[in-house]
Amino acid sequence: MVHCQDHRRGGETPVAQHDVVVIGPPLRGERFISADSCCDASRHTRAALPINGRVYLAQRFAVDWEQLDAQGRVYAGAQSDLTSYTIYGRDVLAVADASVAAVIDGLPDQPPGKMPSDIAIEEADGNSVILDLGSGRYALYAHLRAGSIIVKAGDRVKRGQTIARVGNSGNTLAPHLHFHVMDTPSPLASNGLPYSIDAFQVTGATPSTEAFDNAEANGTPLAVTPVAPLRAIRNALPLDQLEITFDSR
Ligand SMILES: [Zn+2]
Repeated sequence: MVHCQDHRRGGETPVAQHDVVVIGPPLRGERFISADSCCDASRHTRAALPINGRVYLAQRFAVDWEQLDAQGRVYAGAQSDLTSYTIYGRDVLAVADASVAAVIDGLPDQPPGKMPSDIAIEEADGNSVILDLGSGRYALYAHLRAGSIIVKAGDRVKRGQTIARVGNSGNTLAPHLHFHVMDTPSPLASNGLPYSIDAFQVTGATPSTEAFDNAEANGTPLAVTPVAPLRAIRNALPLDQLEITFDSR
């Protein structure tokens, strides 16, 4: 076969050589679902945003952490009631000893069950905290509960320390924790970086994003396929639609 060389010439890009940052869990407890994680869920991994003339993919390795109750439900009770949701109000933890790079606070929790229609792009993350992990890595926690953030810019935090609670502020359908690591302290003008969580257990897998979305829309039990025996994982990025336990430590 003969190829014209011009057809084989692509754009060149530098490849980062530094190690993947290893962090602790952002939450504590069981039956968390790693929704919209790497790599087939297009909501994050392909969320390329043009900002100031460049394209950024800040959410490439983001996870929307959700949680099921004992019956496998995202919520029980009224869909429009924040307190119906299993994950609402759970402690959000510092993933490392770090300094607080930025805090956005003062936004309301949105009524769950429908996407808000009038959120400015600057407020899409809702109440949020950015931790400076060092070495050009920043952790973003988004959609935090109104009034729950207990750190401020410049504070030092310890790994495992509670910094806020899970909420539903910003551009969000239902309470969850959006978490990712990025290369600048700007959630928009940054690129997402891979990261490893140093210890977690995989207890099951959901059928699909579609099945999860149906369970979230209807409050019906999600048919999680258990993993037996439990798989204790070290230093890995949870992939999409797994059911995960984070030990309290
Ligand atoms: Zn998200």
